[in-house]
Amino acid sequence: MASRAKVMPAPASTQGMVKVTNGIYAYIGGGGTTNFGLILTNGKPVIIDNDIRVRKPFLAGVRRITKKDAGLVLNTHHNFDHTSDNGYYAKRGAVSFGVDLVRQEMEREYASGNWVKQMAGRGPKVEHFIGKLGISPPAVTFEEQIDIRYGGRLFQMVYIDRCHTKGDTVVWMPEEGVLFSGDLLTYRTHPVNRLGDFMNWLPALGVLKKFPVKYIVPGHGPLPPRGGGIVDENKTYLARLKNRTAAALNKHRTPAKAAQAVSMPEYAKWFRARNVPNNALKMAKDLRKKR
Ligand SMILES: [Zn+2]
Repeated sequence: MASRAKVMPAPASTQGMVKVTNGIYAYIGGGGTTNFGLILTNGKPVIIDNDIRVRKPFLAGVRRITKKDAGLVLNTHHNFDHTSDNGYYAKRGAVSFGVDLVRQEMEREYASGNWVKQMAGRGPKVEHFIGKLGISPPAVTFEEQIDIRYGGRLFQMVYIDRCHTKGDTVVWMPEEGVLFSGDLLTYRTHPVNRLGDFMNWLPALGVLKKFPVKYIVPGHGPLPPRGGGIVDENKTYLARLKNRTAAALNKHRTPAKAAQAVSMPEYAKWFRARNVPNNALKMAKDLRKKR
């Protein structure tokens, strides 16, 4: 049971640009905030995800590696902390890519007035952007997969499923064995699930296991060690959350009551530990949903 499972170590406090492998970098947000990718090519660089709130430190990291403006921007999913600076790069000539659900979800949140507001209260601060910020959805959209050959490299964007959001996509670089997982994977950081579906998320991790990875860059948390061990860690977390929530639902009538009874003590040292009740509540609702 929970009490006997070993406590997972605290994440490293890495922050800033780190080298993944030749010409491929991860910008680690630090403290479990959002990570981004920077890939050098024979042409302009490619960036993966972006957040207007951290444009300055991110670009400072980029400029130490390349003076060129980004040629492509690839979005792993629609969330504000992964797409809110698309417009900045578009103005400088970059072409952005994402599944069509990313476009749809950005437009839906913008139309409802929630685009900026939903980030309020979370770090880094977003309140000064309320009412002032538009959206810049991906210029090129697709449904299942798109292969982008650019600057001597191959980027495969593969839609996985509705897990963390409706449009969860990975960027796979088969020649280098590098997988940018977006928020389908977090390292030593509790996941977030407001708009996705936990019932799809566990099987999706089985899909991610099939990529012959050398390196994985997760959506949040420090860079994990080489290989796919991070997928198993995420799988164990979600399986425990599911089992404990299912057990709580047998004892308590409502998802809200059940969620309060779920604890994840092994993960107390991970970033975003306060998110456990939210995750348990979402899991309870997803378990109860009629399919
Ligand atoms: Zn995220």
